[in-house]
Parts: sequence; C-alpha cells; structure tokens
Amino acid sequence: MPTYEYWCPKCKKEFELKRPFSDFNKPAYCPICNAEGEKLISNFASKTGFNLQVPGKPFRKQE
Ligand SMILES: [Zn+2]
Repeated sequence: MPTYEYWCPKCKKEFELKRPFSDFNKPAYCPICNAEGEKLISNFASKTGFNLQVPGKPFRKQE
C-alpha cells in the first residue's frame, strides 16, 4: 500500500498516511488536530502522470 504525504496547515507539519491508491484523491485528516491536510505530491505521483501542484511549499523552504 503506498504511503502519501500530507501537509497540515494548522499544525504546520507533514504527516503520512498509508492508503490504497483508490483513495488517493480522498481527503486526509491530520492525526493530531483532525484538520483536512493538503496533499503533497511525491515523485511517485508525478511519475504516474498526475499533474497536480501544491501551490507554494513554504515548509520545504524552511528546511
Ligand atoms: Zn494538524
């Protein structure tokens, strides 16, 4: 089962979720605050031809 990465705008943290590929487009909820997370696009996803972009990636720039 693939692992997907999400970004919680409330916690300002990434979290990961293992879920079937068929659930890829379903909302993911933060395990800490239960807010809806934003999907992060992994290399895996981009290679499969998805053309989804997460606008800005401030969490990446902070690192
Ligand atoms: Zn959260």
